[in-house]
Amino acid sequence: MTPEAPKTGNFLRHIIERDLAEGTYEGRRFAGSPGGAAHHANAPLDEARIRTRFPPEPNGYLHIGHAKSITLNFGLAAEYGGVCHMRFDDTNPEKEEQEYVDAILDAVRWLGYDWRANGVEHLYFASDYFDFMYAAAEALIAAGHAYVDEQTAEQMRASRGDFTTPGTDSPFRGRTADENLARFRAMRAGELPDGAAVLRAKIDMASPNINLRDPALYRIKRATHHNTGDAWCIYPMYTYAHPIEDALEGITHSICTLEFEDQRPFYDWLLETLCDLGLLARPRPHQHEFARLNVTHVITSKRKLKQLVDEKIVDGWDDPRMPTLVGLRRRGYTPASIRTMCERAGTTKAGGWVDWASLDAALREDLEGRAPRAMAVLRPVTLELVNWAEVFGSASHREPCSAPAHPQRPELGLRTFMLGPEVWIERDDYAASPPKGFFRLFPGNKVRLKYGVVVECLGAETDAAGAITRVRASVVPDTKSGTPGADRVKVKGNITWVGADDAIPAEIRLYEHLFRDEHPDVGDDLKASVDASSKAVLRGFVEPSLANAQPDDKFQFERHGYFVADRHDHTASRPVFNRIAPLRDTKAP
Ligand code: ATP
Ligand code: MG
Repeated sequence: MTPEAPKTGNFLRHIIERDLAEGTYEGRRFAGSPGGAAHHANAPLDEARIRTRFPPEPNGYLHIGHAKSITLNFGLAAEYGGVCHMRFDDTNPEKEEQEYVDAILDAVRWLGYDWRANGVEHLYFASDYFDFMYAAAEALIAAGHAYVDEQTAEQMRASRGDFTTPGTDSPFRGRTADENLARFRAMRAGELPDGAAVLRAKIDMASPNINLRDPALYRIKRATHHNTGDAWCIYPMYTYAHPIEDALEGITHSICTLEFEDQRPFYDWLLETLCDLGLLARPRPHQHEFARLNVTHVITSKRKLKQLVDEKIVDGWDDPRMPTLVGLRRRGYTPASIRTMCERAGTTKAGGWVDWASLDAALREDLEGRAPRAMAVLRPVTLELVNWAEVFGSASHREPCSAPAHPQRPELGLRTFMLGPEVWIERDDYAASPPKGFFRLFPGNKVRLKYGVVVECLGAETDAAGAITRVRASVVPDTKSGTPGADRVKVKGNITWVGADDAIPAEIRLYEHLFRDEHPDVGDDLKASVDASSKAVLRGFVEPSLANAQPDDKFQFERHGYFVADRHDHTASRPVFNRIAPLRDTKAP
C-alpha cells in the first residue's frame, strides 16, 4: 500500500459533512472557555467549525483501542477546521489518580496531537463542572424533572422491570419539588449515609428503553476526589455528567463507542431539558457511536491489563508486549504507524477485528525509508578465516569495509567496520548437511560476507553435545566488495556478520504476541493463556556504527527486521535493542 492510500471508510465524515452543509451548528457561540448558556450568550460566534473531545477516565493507562478514539477525535477536528478538547472524565472519585492523568497527556502528545488552538489550551476536567452539574440538578428538581428516591438499591432494581415488563413507580416519585429540593440538599450536606438515597430523573417508568426509566443522576459516596478533595459527598453519574460536559464545552460531535447507543435517548432528553430550562446553549451536542477497535492477539480490558502487571506476568505497564501506548512506544512502534493503522482500520458501526500485522505493515512503511541500516548477529558463532594471514600478508591486518547507512539515501553517509580473521556470524547460517535451497555456509560452498569478501566454507567444530562452536572458511582472494573484478566469483548466498574486534556486545530482546490466540478469550487465569516464550533475551553483537545509538533510536538490522534501542535499559556501556517487527510478515497464510 502506498503511504498516500485513500482515506478509509468513515461514516462520521459523512455526518460531519452533512452537518456542515446544513449549518446544523451555525450560530453557536463560544466564550473561549466552558460554561452554560449565560456564559456563552454574548460571546462571539465559535471560530471552530466543529468541536470534538477525547474523554478518558484517568483510571489506567491508554491502550491501542484508545488510540483509535484519539486519532478519530483529533483527526476529524483537524480535517474539518475544528478543535478537539482533551477532557478527563473524572467524575468517579475512586480509582482515579494523578499518575494516570500525566501518563494520558504524555501518550496523546506522543501520538502527535495537541489540544491547544489559537493559543488556548483546551484541557478540561469534568470535576471542574461539579458546581454546574449540581445547579442543573436543582433546576431539574424545581421543574419537576427529578426526585430523590430513598428506596433500597434492591427495591429500585426490582421496580425497574425488564425488557418485557414495564417498571413501576417508586413511592417517592410523587414528592413535591420543595420536598425533593430539601432532601437533595440534605444529601449534599452529608446528612444521609452512603447509598441511602439517589437523585433520579423523572421520565417514564414504562419506557421501552430501560435507560429512560428514571435513571439515577446523583449518588452519595464519601470518597476523596483527586481534584476536588472532600468538597463533595455526592457525585454525578457518568450518564448525567457526560452530556453536560459536552454541552458546557460547546462540543458539536460527541463520538463514543457502541455500548453507549442505548444511552443516546437519555443524552438527548437531558440536553433538551436543560436547554429548555435556559441552562445550556443551543445548538447542543449530538452523540454518534462507532464500533470499538479490536486488534488480534491482544486484550484491551483495563482490568485484565492491570492483572497482567499485578501478577508480574509482564514487566510493567510498558512491557513491550503490552498493547498500552507506553508498551507500544517502548517496543518501538512509531506514532505514525499507529495513526496509519487506526485510519486504515476504518470507522464503522459493525466492528470486527484488525490484524496486528497491519500495525507491523504500517511500521515498516514508516521506517523503511528512514531507519539507518546496521548489521547485527543475534545468535553468534565464530567464523574463522583460516588463510587470512596468507591472503592479506599478516595475521594482524584488518580490512576496512563500508556500507551506506541507507541504500536509497546517500546523504546519510557510510558506516565503516573492520573485517579480520575472526568474525561473528549467525549460528543458523551454517548447516553441516544443507537442506534443499540452503545457499549459506556448508562444506564446499562459497558465500559473500556482505560488504566484505567471498569465503569458501571448510566445515565446523562441535562440542561434546554436537553444538557448533566454530565454523571455518577460507578467503577467496581478490573478491572484496567494491574492488574491480570482485564479483567474478558468483555466489548465491550473502550473509551478515560483525567483526570480532570491533563488534559491540548487545542484549537483543525478541518479542512475540503475549497471546497466541488471534482472538484471546481469556478467563481469570491469565498466566495459563499467555505464551511463556513470548519474550526471548539473546546475547548478540552489533556493528560499531551503533556505538552512539540513543534510547528510542530505530534501525533496520539487515536480514533481521526493525529494532529500537530500549528507552529504559539501553546505555552506551550496556546496549539493549528490542525487535519491533521482522522485515516481512512471516505468519503462515
Ligand atoms: P472503562 O471500562 O474504564 O470505561 P474505557 O476503555 O471505556 O474503559 P475510557 O477512559 O472511558 O476507557 O475511554 C476513553 C475513550 O476511549 C472513550 O470515548 C472510549 O469509548 C474510547 N475507547 C476505549 N476503548 C476503545 C476501543 N477499543 N476502540 C475505540 N475507542 C475506545
Ligand atoms: Mg469508558
